[in-house]
Formats: sequence, structure tokens, C-alpha cells
Amino acid sequence: MAIKEKTIHPQTQAAEKYVQKVLESVRERNPHEPEFHQAVKETLLSLVPALTKKPEYIDHGILERLVEPERVISFQVPWTDDQGRVQVNRGFRVQFNSAIGPYKGGIRFHPSVNASIVKFLGFEQIFKNSLTGQPIGGGKGGSDFDPKGKSDQEIMRFTQSFMTELSKHIGPDVDVPAGDIGVSAREIGYMFGQYKKLRGAYEAGVLTGKGPNYGGSLARTEATGYGTVYFVEEMLKAKGLSFEGKTVVVSGSGNVSIFAMEKAQELGAKVVACSDSSGYIYDENGIDLGTLKQIKMENKERINIYIDKHPDAYYFEECKNIWSIPCDIALPCATQNELDGDSARKLVANGVAAIGEGANMPSTIEAIDIFHNHEVLFAPAKAANAGGVAVSALEMAQNSSRISWTFEEVDAQLHEIMIDIHEKSVNAAKEYGHPGNLVIGTNIAGFINVADAMVMQGV
Ligand code: NDP
Repeated sequence: MAIKEKTIHPQTQAAEKYVQKVLESVRERNPHEPEFHQAVKETLLSLVPALTKKPEYIDHGILERLVEPERVISFQVPWTDDQGRVQVNRGFRVQFNSAIGPYKGGIRFHPSVNASIVKFLGFEQIFKNSLTGQPIGGGKGGSDFDPKGKSDQEIMRFTQSFMTELSKHIGPDVDVPAGDIGVSAREIGYMFGQYKKLRGAYEAGVLTGKGPNYGGSLARTEATGYGTVYFVEEMLKAKGLSFEGKTVVVSGSGNVSIFAMEKAQELGAKVVACSDSSGYIYDENGIDLGTLKQIKMENKERINIYIDKHPDAYYFEECKNIWSIPCDIALPCATQNELDGDSARKLVANGVAAIGEGANMPSTIEAIDIFHNHEVLFAPAKAANAGGVAVSALEMAQNSSRISWTFEEVDAQLHEIMIDIHEKSVNAAKEYGHPGNLVIGTNIAGFINVADAMVMQGV
């Protein structure tokens, strides 16, 4: 039997060739940066339909410009520990793209932080920020400082030293950092205090995630987790499904995870498991969030303490095995590449219906392919966790106008933004010939806005 060859339109061929050329140059120009390569590959491959339809983006060198940060800053962070010894860490800020607004993105304190991690996060932030419909560009920063086991004074001294250098590169109309892994309200407070001292001015809009008593927005703490669940709710609704009565597994037990669990419970789901970097807990009665918040947010303890208070629950070491627990909905909310091909196969074998990425790039490319091949609903991070930065932009708006909205007002705007992001992603997926594929829809919807602004602003 003769095999009929699939004909590829010449413009599609040109777009594919262009993407491959840019990917090749990213690998050559940024050696030893696997996370950055992964993020760029996942995104660029999905942009082929947009480049086919609008070949002028190729002529304008949009992809070459998108994958090269506008500025990368790397700096020394010296500080003194409680024993009086001098310690030195490395700090980063990557200012990736400012086509649609000042750079915006969090700061991560974790020993794994390096140029690759900060660049992958900054690159993804461009598309995510664009999707929110707010005027914010893409950036990210951090340090290889490990906050675990440090005293409050050590955290303060380190954070002040970090800001002493960072302050030279940021500002309310330049670059507006926020929190991420290892950076919450405490660290933002110390950074803001130091920035204010160095500048001699009260520029509230220079950082987001501040305390509500000094310019922070209500509902910012909850925004990423709530937003992820709002997005997944829309995705389920489109298939006639909901959170009501569903079993949910959420990885992590930090800022994003805890508020994703809270909203999922409010919508009638039973969250049976969550984790930290040491292991995971399983509570078939449903996780008691009051106890979990006290352990992880207030006391900053390890998650195994939970079983002392709930003897019916179980603790297991090896956080990755959390994906072997049968569930209807899985929300990876801890860190990058925490859900690989093996984990995806286990989730599929156990009948998972939907995945919502609360963390940044938590699923490997293999895992995403497995979900798509088995028709599991998949909400990609750039869309699903955009609620945090969206409310950060609302915090900037409140700071500029010197007013504060109520929790309910901010939450209602967040909810609308997440519905809008879902709609944009669904429509773009349909318009560009891949109905139902939210990875393609999200990437294209975020890309077009930025690419058009870049074309209009010239080289
Ligand atoms: P937190 O520091 O508050 O919490 C992180 C959680 O993940 C902790 O439970 C931590 O465990 C666990 N974790 C961290 N590293 C690992 C690892 N290598 N393996 C397993 N578990 C790990 O961070 P956030 O909740 O703020 O951030 C979580 C994710 O969400 C990140 O990918 C972040 O980039 C993303 N994100 C965050 C936003 C925000 O507004 N905060 C906005 C958008 C995305 P342990 O307690 O042991 O450290």
C-alpha cells in the first residue's frame, strides 16, 4: 500500500526552520543551562502556527530578540552569620523583556538558583505577564542563599545586603520584584525597608507582596493558589465538570499550594495529600488546613509534624511519590520538573482527569505529552499560575493611585482575570488550529501581544 506523504505548507516549513535555528542558537549561546533550554523549547515549538500566519515576526527577528534577555545582572551578596563569619552568596536579576511594561517577576532564595533557573523563570514570565492583560514586562531574580535553618537576624542581614546591590537596578517604572520560593512577606518587608533607606524616598510601587499595612494588596498572598483553582475550574466547566466531590492531590505546602488547597476545598473538593521537599502526607479525611498553615507558614517546620496532630494520617519520605496517589485532579505547586514521565504515567493509570500547574514548569515535556496523548485536561503554568502576578499588578495600581481595595474587590478582579486568560487561551488554540490544546493557546495568546508591541517599537 502506498504511503501518502503529509504535505507541509511552505510557510509552515519556513516557521519550523526558523524555530529550529533559534533553538540551536539558544543551546550554543547558553551552554549548561538545561532549564532555560527546556522552557524555550516548550514555548517556541508551540509558536509555529503563529509564525506561519504572521511571517512578519520572522522578518523582525522577534524570536531571536525574545530569547536574549535585555539585561542580566549577577552580583556578590556578602553577609555575616550569627557566629560572626562572613558568608558570600550569588545574586541575580534577569530583565528579560520590557515591550509592554516595566520588568516584573519574583525573587527566589533557594540553593538551586543559578543563571539557568533565573533565565527560564524570566523567559516564562514574559508570556504569563502578557496574558494577564496588565502592562508588565518579564523579569526574575534570586540567590543561591538557603533560608532553611537561618535565624531571623541572618535572613534580615542577607536580605538587606541583597537589596543594597539590587536597588541600583530596580524602581516602580523600571523593574518591580516580588516573592517566589523562599521569599514571602518577611523577606519583602526587609527588602522594602532597605530600599527605602537607600533611596531616601517612599516608593511603594517598587516591590509587590508587601504587608497590607504599608502598601500591600489584600488577597496577594492567596492570589496564585486561588488563581490556579479558578483557571482549572473554567477548564473543567468547559467539559461539564467541577471541583465538587473530586479528590485532589497538591504538591508543596508553601504559599501557592496552601491557597490552592483552600480554594479547592471551598469549591467542594477533598484534598488528600500534599508535600514539602522532604516527603508527603496522606490524610484520607482531607487535609486539615488550619494545622498545616500553623506547621508550614507560622512555625516553618517540616511537614511530618502533621501526623503528630492527626494520627490517622500517614507520612512518606520521597516527595516525588505523591503522584502515585489516585486522584481526579492533580495540582503540582512546588517546583520545576517535579512531575516527570513516570509520575505522569502513574497519574494516568489511576484515572486523573485534570492537571493544573501552580508551580513554574513543574511538568517535564514528556509528562505534558503523556497528558495530551491520554486526553487529560492540562492547564499550563504560564496561564494557570498567572493570578499572583496579576494581583501584583493590581497592587502597583493601588500604590500609584494611593488607594486600597477590599479583599473581595481584589479577589473578584482576580477571578475575572483568570476567566479571561482561560478564554484567550481557548480561543487562540482554536484560531491557530489546535482546539483544546491550552499549551499552544496560552503560548500564542501571550506571544502575539508582546510580539506586536516589539514590532511597533522598532529595533
Ligand atoms: P514557597 O517557598 O512558599 O513553597 C515552596 C514549596 O515547595 C515548599 O513546600 C517547598 O518545601 C517545596 N519545594 C521547594 N523546592 C522543592 C524541591 N526541589 N522538591 C520538592 N519540593 C520543593 O514557594 P511558592 O509557593 O511561592 O512557589 C511554589 C512554586 O510556584 C514555584 O515554582 C514558584 O516559582 C511558583 N509561583 C509562585 C508564585 C507566588 O506568587 N509565590 C507566582 C507564580 C508561580 P520546603 O518547605 O521543604 O522548602
